[in-house]
Formats: sequence, structure tokens, C-alpha cells
Amino acid sequence: MKKYAFGVDIGGTTCKIGFFDTNGTLLDKWEIKTNTENNGESILSDVAKAVDNKLAQEAISKDDVQGIGIGVPGPVDSQGVVHRCVNLGWGVVNVAEELGNLTGLKIKVGNDANVAALGEMWQGGAKGSKDVIMVTLGTGVGGGGIIVDGKVVAGFNGAGGEIGHITVNNDEIEACNCGQYGCLEQYTSATGIVRLAKRKLAKSTEETSIREIPNLTAKDVFDAAKAGDAIAIGLVDEVCEILGSTLSNIACVVNPEIIVIGGGVSKAGDILLDNIKKHFVETSFMACRETKFALAGLG
Ligand code: ZN
Repeated sequence: MKKYAFGVDIGGTTCKIGFFDTNGTLLDKWEIKTNTENNGESILSDVAKAVDNKLAQEAISKDDVQGIGIGVPGPVDSQGVVHRCVNLGWGVVNVAEELGNLTGLKIKVGNDANVAALGEMWQGGAKGSKDVIMVTLGTGVGGGGIIVDGKVVAGFNGAGGEIGHITVNNDEIEACNCGQYGCLEQYTSATGIVRLAKRKLAKSTEETSIREIPNLTAKDVFDAAKAGDAIAIGLVDEVCEILGSTLSNIACVVNPEIIVIGGGVSKAGDILLDNIKKHFVETSFMACRETKFALAGLG
């Protein structure tokens, strides 16, 4: 194992770059803008430049760099080929080969939620476990990652672990970003929680502190619930029931040792974790009832 490595999270607006030693200690991190013009054709060369600049700045030779690990917001196959990534403007892009040619370094590519799960298993909330489910409750998408016996379940064409698109409501009339109706992320991502809240407010005239909040966020809903607002408490319970019961179904398939909850929504903390666990146990298969729960540790 060489001394250094890079971790890159390619997102729709920024690429977050981390420079690490190979024990997993973060030495430096920074962001560059994601240029999605012309079908995102310059994204990989921009990342390559950022890596080269850093190595020049630190006077580190590429011989001391193990490689670059990359997360992208779309399905990635086992060869490191991305199959359509709407946020980046990409069609089929062989990230491993292209960035490898640009940098001369070894490249490993995965779906962002899957590699987040790997990170949590290595250095975060699931440290020491080999059977892990991670759910990322982000502002937009509620993606996930499933690790069985230390390996990410990426599936046939990289779409494994897409927990966010499990159907949880057959009666939904609004479409999910994926085009289907009633996906988990429509209820449990940050935007999903706000959507549920607005629906509930439109249907009831009950007094609640969240009714007066302009540009309501998921954090507002959790804060109001913590302060004892009955409508907000009901909403949090509804969200956690949907998530808890869905996770208990997934647990029947992969029998995880631990379930890690990450993403912006997870900042709500114990109120979220305890409530998900309560509903998980209610619907859980007996042998999975002792599954541990943790918040993501890496941010
Ligand atoms: Zn969906």
C-alpha cells in the first residue's frame, strides 16, 4: 500500500476532493466547481488538474499515490463505467479509463451512495461491521448503499442498493424524479418530508408552529417536533414509520448487523434514529430485531 490517496465526490454543482493518507486520515479537502456544460465533458479533466496541482504543491510523486476513489450520482458498473448521469450531463462515460489516462493513477469508481456506505464501514458509524445498510437522506435524493460480507451490492448494471426507489405507496399521484410513483425518497428525503408536511398542512386547520414558517425545511419540521409541536411530531412519526418498515423489509433480504443513517436529514439526531428503530422493530422479522442503528460518522 502506497502512502497517499484521493477521494472525489462528483456532484451536480461541486466536486468535493479529499487528500488522504492510506490509513484513512484526511489531510486536506477542497471543492472545485462542476462544469456540466457540453454534457459535462470537462469534469474529469478538471478533477485531474486539481489532483495534479495538489501533488505539485505538496511535492509528492505519483509513485506514492495509491489512486483515486470516486463517487458519482448515478449507476456505475463493475468496470467503472457510468451509465447515464443526469445531474452531470453524462451519457455512458468510462470514468475509470478516462481519468486513469488523464492522471496515470489507478481509479476506482462507484455510485456515491454506495461508496459513502463503504466509507462508513471503514472509518465511520459502521466501523468493524461487514454487513451494513446505509441510507442517505439528502436534500434531494434518498439513496442508499448495501454491503454484504464487506462488499457493495452494486448489482448487474450498478443500480443495486437504490433504496430510495423502493415503492412504499401504490396510491401516490405525484411522480418521483425517477418517473415512478410512491418511491421511498418521495417521503423520507428532505424534500419528501417538506412535501408531506405541506400536504398535511393543506388538509388540516389545526394550529401548528410550522404553518407560519416561510420556505419550510425538513430541519424546521424536526425542530418543531423536538419543541413539542403535535403536527410536527405526527409528521416525524409518519416519516420514520415509512422508513423503519421499509428497512425491516430490506433486513429480511440481507440481514444487516447495522443500519447507518446519513445525509442532511440525519442531523436531526436521536429523535430520528430512535423513531426509525421503534418502527423497524414493530415490523421486523424476529431474527433481525436486534439490528443496530447508528448515525453516519463521516459527514
Ligand atoms: Zn423513484
